[in-house]
Amino acid sequence: MRHLARIPFPEVERFAGSDKALVILPVGVVEEHGAHLPLGLDAFAAEAYAEAAVPELEVQGYEVIIAPTICYGVARAAIDFPGTLSLEPNTLKALVIDIGRSLARHGLKRLVVLNAHRDQSHMKALDEARAQLATENTSQVLCVGFTLDPALTAACYREGVRELSRSARPDREGHGGEWETSLALHAFPQWVRTEIIKDLDPNFDYDVDAFRNESKDYGTLSNGRGYFGSPQSGDAETGRKIVARRGCNIARVILQAWGAPGSAEIK
Ligand SMILES: [Zn+2]
Repeated sequence: MRHLARIPFPEVERFAGSDKALVILPVGVVEEHGAHLPLGLDAFAAEAYAEAAVPELEVQGYEVIIAPTICYGVARAAIDFPGTLSLEPNTLKALVIDIGRSLARHGLKRLVVLNAHRDQSHMKALDEARAQLATENTSQVLCVGFTLDPALTAACYREGVRELSRSARPDREGHGGEWETSLALHAFPQWVRTEIIKDLDPNFDYDVDAFRNESKDYGTLSNGRGYFGSPQSGDAETGRKIVARRGCNIARVILQAWGAPGSAEIK
């Protein structure tokens, strides 16, 4: 595994045109996640899942390069919380297209956009970027993680994860709740305000439909709390299992789409 920003150009040149080279572009957002979690959580999550997916891909023969994370995205539901930043969807779309074109120019022809932020406009912008790059016939692009396709999102995020829940209401866990608290306690505990978690009572009583279809903002939906579910149910060991499982899931989705290197003709 290599990080594009940490290696010199000759090491990239060696992958030009290689069927084995696969770039993962993690995508997050700057958005509130409750008073206990950092605003950059989704970007850190995307990086953790990318790194967890790499061994599964390398075993199949891929040479994986992780591109610098896109830390900004479309974040309209939480925009009234201090610190939440939002791009226009077209800005995000243009950014991903520019990155994809640059990679293709250097012969890096497989791009996986690994998105950890659930927002319809955000996911749509990423998918439109994917579609545009596909029409240019210079690379193969796949969106994984949170995507417009609910079945694909479930295959990446939910398989083998639901049963890890310790929450009294797993069906009510969401943004800033058990899952994201567990992930943070495992992957970046130094940025969690652990001392206040005991004061964060479960938020199970919210309009789930409005949360899922994004018809109300997070402030209104959560009564200003910014989290959905039970932060107190989160723990680091569960977070470790979530990262490992989602990494495997994401690798499997990529392998299902593209197979191992050499198993299909790449444009
Ligand atoms: Zn999140």
